Amino acid sequence: MSASSIHFSFELFPPRTPAGAEKLPAVVSRLAAVGPAFFSVTYGAGGSDQEGTYETVMRIAEDTGIETAPHLTCIGSTRAKIAALLQRYRDSGIRRIVALRGDLPATAASAAAPGEFRYASELVRFIRETHGQHFRLEVAAYPEMHPQAPNPDTDFENFRRKVEAGADGAVTQYFYAAEAYFDFMERCARAGITIPVVPGIMPITNFAQLTRFSAACGADIPRWIRLRLEQYQDDKQALLDFGLEVVTRLCRTLLDEGAPGLHFYTLNQAEPTLRLWKHLGLPVR
Ligand code: FAD
Repeated sequence: MSASSIHFSFELFPPRTPAGAEKLPAVVSRLAAVGPAFFSVTYGAGGSDQEGTYETVMRIAEDTGIETAPHLTCIGSTRAKIAALLQRYRDSGIRRIVALRGDLPATAASAAAPGEFRYASELVRFIRETHGQHFRLEVAAYPEMHPQAPNPDTDFENFRRKVEAGADGAVTQYFYAAEAYFDFMERCARAGITIPVVPGIMPITNFAQLTRFSAACGADIPRWIRLRLEQYQDDKQALLDFGLEVVTRLCRTLLDEGAPGLHFYTLNQAEPTLRLWKHLGLPVR
């Protein structure tokens, strides 16, 4: 496998506790050592605020010298707020943004203020209208369908809207069935979509957490994997070993079949991602 032309990226979230903030620089430093193409930092997921995203992005970029992209969600927001934020990012030297709709928190206040954007495609269009090609824009893709979509074809049409609005690349929701990704890529090819669609990779380290995330985001855990994880849930080492084996095989299959890179959901831990990295025989640049 030639790793030089393949882009690897690492996703982090803004630390939620003082202890998390204290640990993050060491995690980032270990991840930076393998030379990712970029880091990205989530926004809003788990209650983080935009300030936390901004500060984390700037800190990582400064500490590592590696490009760091903020995630930006638009639901519940206004054009004026998004415009101010874009300007702030631009003034701070940011050139890449992960543009998302986001999930509206179920609070009365946000329900009363639906905002001026409904979908990520509207955010992508707005960024292009206001900043031209200044930012490289990544959007989300769902090989197993976004959980709120009525059916896969409609969801794919909605993905196409984001590409037509000006997305440069996409990162997928995580999945464990490589076939779902290949099928998505075939649909892209048939639709004339040529932007890179990078698989999102979720290391397996904790059964309860994975089950919770997967139920929320619509990622399928194939039955045979679920059964093994259930069996190993009280044997941490067996679960880690099995998870490593499954996800390494998934990554290898994806890269062998032409995936343009891998985007790792690190959950602010270096070890699971670096173990995968080593098992895949990827170079330290
Ligand atoms: P969209 O592309 O707007 O799609 C959302 C839904 O609307 C889909 O069901 C789609 O089919 C439908 N839709 C789209 N356009 C139309 C249309 N014109 N008419 C009718 N229906 C339409 N969440 C966070 O809160 N913070 C983060 O930092 C974050 N990072 C993420 C990173 C990645 C790589 C991924 C895959 C997800 C991330 N999420 C994050 C989760 C994401 O916000 C949710 O999955 C959200 O529900 C959808 O966001 P989207 O950008 O895919 O939305």
